[in-house]
Amino acid sequence: MKTSSARIAGLGTTIFAEMSALAVRTGSINLGQGFPDTDGPTEVIDRAVDALRSGRNQYAPGTGVPELRQAIAAHQQRFYGLAVDPDTEVAVTTGATEAIAAMLLGLLDEGDEVIVLEPYYDSYVAMLQMAGAVRRPVTLRAPGFRLPIDELHAAVSPRTTAILLNSPHNPTGTVLRRDELEAIAAIAIEHDLVVISDEVYEHLTFDGLPHIPIATLPGMAERTLTISSGGKSFSFTGWKIGWATGPAALIQALLGAKQFMTYTSGSPLQPAIAHALVADDSYFDGFRAQLQSQRDLLCTGLAEVGLEVFVPEGTYFVTTDIRPLGFDDGVEFCRMLPERVGVVAIPHQVFYDHVDVGRPLVRWAFCKRPEVIAEALTRLAGLRPHDS
Ligand code: PMP
Ligand code: GLN
Repeated sequence: MKTSSARIAGLGTTIFAEMSALAVRTGSINLGQGFPDTDGPTEVIDRAVDALRSGRNQYAPGTGVPELRQAIAAHQQRFYGLAVDPDTEVAVTTGATEAIAAMLLGLLDEGDEVIVLEPYYDSYVAMLQMAGAVRRPVTLRAPGFRLPIDELHAAVSPRTTAILLNSPHNPTGTVLRRDELEAIAAIAIEHDLVVISDEVYEHLTFDGLPHIPIATLPGMAERTLTISSGGKSFSFTGWKIGWATGPAALIQALLGAKQFMTYTSGSPLQPAIAHALVADDSYFDGFRAQLQSQRDLLCTGLAEVGLEVFVPEGTYFVTTDIRPLGFDDGVEFCRMLPERVGVVAIPHQVFYDHVDVGRPLVRWAFCKRPEVIAEALTRLAGLRPHDS
């Protein structure tokens, strides 16, 4: 009996599932998988409850309920000055994950090449493989994790179809600057490439650094599919309401695949996310400030523990180098950590083709309450060389 396809061969179990299961089994503090330990705004939950109780429990339109598509379009206008048609240039998806999957399946043919920033989010690799496409990683390296423009140029070939971007970038925390985005845009325009821009952490940039959607650069709106998620911006990761905006032809291709994957996504949650998206600036500012203080707490503490800390510009993750503590393999370190001190983190290595680059790097999530971060740091103090 055949039980699996070549399409999924070698993909294994996602590191996030493995590490969260390890956290549960060992009763550890989970600074691994990126999910907040507090809910998003109560009034958004109330909207979902209202929707559940007022008969909004059947299939939504495949593109998403009109009020959410309108709220997404209004959000793109309000924050970035981007004009998006809610009827033809927006698709609501089952998390950003489905937007990525449906866009790659709807766009790519066997052998098409896609440039990705490495370390990459693991679903990119899996979906490129399922689409039969070839990934061309361009590596962001410590300490700055800046985009190496020369390497980006060198990665383009006659088979290149798309550049799959992620900014703010998981797991490094890099926020792409205007000059980096301009260089990417120039390459995309010169070679007539699609840009798929994963911006799920769009509201999580720190120290006043702006998030710049690449779609706002001249000539880019017509070739960019922008992806985001209510999970990240409003701390409802379990709702899995994501979306994509972009030119009608790309949205059509995405929907061409999505209609046969899920057809449509969580009806009663969509009006609630629509409400969240039109929140006052104070919500977004407060969320960002809270995360920034948690970032500072964790970064200071991890440095005190003795790790080399690369302070992130965005996202809710911080990357460290574990070598100052006498370790050199992040996978071994992360498998040992829960048993030894009761904390879970994520090894970078699994996000690279160039595994040697990622081997000593480990990612920690700070979307956790300050007291939880403080307790994790107390436990991690047990790793200091003089304690071991
Ligand atoms: N892209 C990136 C870079 C992410 O970190 C995540 C987080 N899970 C996703 C996509 C997926 O988002 P969602 O949970 O909305 O599917
Ligand atoms: N995006 C989150 C992370 O990077 C969660 C990923 C997931 O569970 N698929 O941790």
